[in-house]
Amino acid sequence: MLTFEEARGKIIEQVGKKKGPCAITTVSVWDAPGLVLAQEVKTDREYPPFDRSTRDGYAVRSKEAAPGAQMKCVGEIKAGDTVSDALAAGTCLQIMTGAAVPAGADAVVMIEHTSREGEVVRFDRSAQAGQNIVLRGSEAAAAQTILTRGMRLGYAELALAAQVGAVQLLCAKRPRVAILSTGDEVVLIDETPGEFQIRNSNSVSLAAQVRIAGGEPVVLGNAADRIEDLGAKIERGLKEDALVLSGGVSMGKYDLVENVLKAMGAEFFFDAVAIRPGKPAVFGVCQGKPVFGLPGNPVSTMVTFELFVAPAIDLLSGAQARSLPLVQARLAEALNEKPGLTHFLPASVEWRGAGPEVKAIRWQGSGDIAALAKANCFLVVPADREKIEIGESVSILLRKDVV
Ligand code: AMP
Ligand code: MG
Repeated sequence: MLTFEEARGKIIEQVGKKKGPCAITTVSVWDAPGLVLAQEVKTDREYPPFDRSTRDGYAVRSKEAAPGAQMKCVGEIKAGDTVSDALAAGTCLQIMTGAAVPAGADAVVMIEHTSREGEVVRFDRSAQAGQNIVLRGSEAAAAQTILTRGMRLGYAELALAAQVGAVQLLCAKRPRVAILSTGDEVVLIDETPGEFQIRNSNSVSLAAQVRIAGGEPVVLGNAADRIEDLGAKIERGLKEDALVLSGGVSMGKYDLVENVLKAMGAEFFFDAVAIRPGKPAVFGVCQGKPVFGLPGNPVSTMVTFELFVAPAIDLLSGAQARSLPLVQARLAEALNEKPGLTHFLPASVEWRGAGPEVKAIRWQGSGDIAALAKANCFLVVPADREKIEIGESVSILLRKDVV
């Protein structure tokens, strides 16, 4: 059985190999958060475009500012002012944050380190050349590439595009991910379930996860645990860029997903992973499309999506697969888990004084959505560990959507 890292490796390899070029579209920066850039963006000029003061204070010749030195202030420069005259020797100019430093000046002394009477400014301390000035071109040269194809556009990247005037961006279209639930016990979320039925909550969590991962969810509803119905709905799902199924991949008599996919020509790269929850997860390629069979228990579905489907959506968007948001935290309550599989336990991490502390949330196993709704991470218990003591350092997988 593969570890979750090995299983991710298979997905990244196969989806990387099979995917065609991404469809692209022009999007305004306002609408582009989370999309993947499909072009290069270059600067339109140097950045900063002029020597910029980073403080409110006085522009000086650094050699002239010394403790007790006095100089005449001969004017002021506001942010946005056109600056053409050089600073005359023996004088200073009041200058604001974001304003252009005049020729001749090589330092800005913070206003806090001066006192002023009328036009005379008295300096408390000496100045170093270059202090409080960001030199023209020091952030980026003119025509320098600052954003590249395949970058995911977060708020900083979008601000950078806006800064250089790139207000329309060529982006990859969100890959369309078909979501198909299976199970005779499952009803639509707006139907009233019978006593022994359940609502299709996985369709909702999966659609949210697809969206957050950068895809466009195409919810296909629910297939009965019957070969014909499954086959027809899988056929429909394969028209999209990827297909995610929930349920029907365990060992039960009515777990038919793998067999139906096989009959449709699927090649499988794993049909179990050494994790709990989520062990029966299946990944294959069917008619050229990546197909994920995720176990139907809701927490299993959610965990296996994050581990296995999210990286595929990255690749289908023309980006690199992002690494898992794994970090270390101090265990706040001892753990006693059955060894053999890597466990992903709903857990809550919080910063406490010296660092992050994590605590598993009591749960009833992989059907317990309420436990996961209280969690902001998964505590990752390695397969070879049984007891973990308070204070030990453990890995946690952050729930990116709530932290
Ligand atoms: P399965 O993986 O098909 O054996 O399903 C395991 C369990 O997950 C089922 O017994 C249901 O309780 C639950 N389940 C399956 N599909 C869904 C779904 N679409 N939404 C919510 N729970 C589900
Ligand atoms: Mg089922």
